Amino acid sequence: HAKAAGRNAYALFGEHMDELLRTRRKLEHDLREALSTGTQIEIAYQPVYSSDSSVPCSLEALCRWRHPELGSIAPDVFIPLAEEIGVIQKIGAIVLEDACSLIALLPSISVAVNASAAELSSPGYPLRVLSVLAKWGIEPTRLEIEITESLAINGEENAERNILMLRAAGVRFAIDDFGTGYSSFSRVQNVTVDRLKIDKSFIGGIREGRNSAIVEAIINMARAQGLRTTAEGVETNEQRDALKSLGCDNIQGFLMSRPIGRGEVMALLGAGEAKKDRG
Ligand code: C2E
Ligand code: MG
Ligand code: MG
Ligand code: MG
Repeated sequence: HAKAAGRNAYALFGEHMDELLRTRRKLEHDLREALSTGTQIEIAYQPVYSSDSSVPCSLEALCRWRHPELGSIAPDVFIPLAEEIGVIQKIGAIVLEDACSLIALLPSISVAVNASAAELSSPGYPLRVLSVLAKWGIEPTRLEIEITESLAINGEENAERNILMLRAAGVRFAIDDFGTGYSSFSRVQNVTVDRLKIDKSFIGGIREGRNSAIVEAIINMARAQGLRTTAEGVETNEQRDALKSLGCDNIQGFLMSRPIGRGEVMALLGAGEAKKDRG
């Protein structure tokens, strides 16, 4: 009896694995194809605000994959896949190009892109970034590159060199999802970044003005190190008010705006410039 049940479970498991492998191989194939045609990767932009103003001061570029059959696929799904099959650099290049072409139309705002460890560690990365900025006539100080806590703190040698090179040229760096890694505050003293983005899991906790001790500690530590702070995932007025009173510099979240398309960005910020975008 037990043996039969075990065999059935195994058969089920095997089928399930087959199915997973087939899905994965299809996604892999489709992603390569999407990148060769270049039409299915779309970039949304989420406005970031100063904590005491309702005018956006920057935009974060967030990519989506518009799959012809499966619809919109979230980056949490296809970015890890792209990293594994070695096509993440191509995605990074598409995002950077789109971001620069957009802020070239909006002289008063800066833009942030997310970069994977594999991109940061690639020898040609700094030159590729700087040449896209030059092509669109964008000051390097208007670009911020968001990296993971582990990359910033456990400093892989090539990545560290590339970050130094880009920072010397004026490009800013931020640690994304700060607080979710395993770094102790003392290690943050040695990082070469300009900003900490406090992970949304901590921001959710400060609703109703409670549980703000961790966020307060991060903000104070950042300020002592001369780093700016952004709170991610701000969804309520209470959170916004608490963050403002704790001295958080910037806020980003569904309360102010979801990620929006290029057209909506132009409507929000472009005013007289919008015509140029339509050609
Ligand atoms: P992230 O860089 O931390 O981006 C913030 C994520 O939080 C975005 O999810 C955004 O839509 C979501 N978000 C913003 N405000 C709120 C809020 O108020 N509440 C909640 N619950 N969520 C909010 P998204 O667009 O699905 O991106 C997920 C992650 O995928 C990003 O996290 C980033 O790590 C990665 N990613 C996105 N685009 C790229 C890219 O071009 N390159 C790379 N390497 N990674 C990317
Ligand atoms: Mg980010
Ligand atoms: Mg984040
Ligand atoms: Mg994230």
